[in-house]
Amino acid sequence: MPRAKDNRKAVGTEHCGECGTLARFYQVQKGNRTGYLYRRCECGADQRTGAAVQVKWLETMQRTGETMIPHPLEGSREPAPEPAKPAPEEPENTPEPRAKSEGNPKTENKRAGLIGLAAMAGAVAVALFT
Ligand SMILES: [Zn+2]
Repeated sequence: MPRAKDNRKAVGTEHCGECGTLARFYQVQKGNRTGYLYRRCECGADQRTGAAVQVKWLETMQRTGETMIPHPLEGSREPAPEPAKPAPEEPENTPEPRAKSEGNPKTENKRAGLIGLAAMAGAVAVALFT
């Protein structure tokens, strides 16, 4: 059986709860309603063109991956499709040493790190015991 080369590629499918078969969605290939979906299953063809049903189909059908004609109604309801990407976080600064010892904070800051922190703790201990 020869395959018509235009509008026979299903762009989406869904399980039809009424006839129990796989309903397929196709797109109108030309004319005023280019891009509109229509649905076929054992129940017959559903060619409703109301915005409500068209948008519902767009949202609920399982897309087959076939290239779709941009649907005239798609985007009118969809919110921004791209989720905002989290901005890359700035690397955190070296945590400020909370001990205010008699030392020189600037140099201590520059030497921050485990050794610095340990030294700082030592300095605090010394400060506490004197
Ligand atoms: Zn059906």
